[in-house]
Amino acid sequence: MKILDLCVGIEDKTIIKNFSLTIKPGSVHVLMGPNGSGKSSLAYALMGHPAYTISQGTIELNGEYITQEPIHKRAKKGIFLSFQQPVSVPGLSVMTFLQEAYRALKGDIQVGEFYALLIEKMDIL
Ligand code: ADP
Ligand code: MG
Repeated sequence: MKILDLCVGIEDKTIIKNFSLTIKPGSVHVLMGPNGSGKSSLAYALMGHPAYTISQGTIELNGEYITQEPIHKRAKKGIFLSFQQPVSVPGLSVMTFLQEAYRALKGDIQVGEFYALLIEKMDIL
């Protein structure tokens, strides 16, 4: 992922100014900074949250510009924003939620098969 000269705002307020970062495949980056410095806003902007306006700069993923793409297209290209405080939805288990997300991205999968995949990933985690 290549983030180049990104400026992000909410309503009339500029929050991120001229931010650039290149993330190579397989690498892990940790952004640290004081509260209110714009870390979450950057994550939302990368995911395509409609409240965060990109006024300048580009986001490139695997050679494609995704700066103007809607959330579902970015998700299909592999971007996922995890929850800091997951929302609890009565009657919806985490497994069902993940299975539906998986189906939307990769096509149908049987419950048993998905369960096995989930356990495998949980072990890694
Ligand atoms: P961090 O995650 O680094 O603590 P944020 O991205 O949450 O920082 O916040 C950066 C700045 O943007 C702060 O000044 C915050 O008040 C402001 N901000 C974040 N989200 C909103 C919002 N939805 N509406 C207005 N201002 C916001
Ligand atoms: Mg934050």
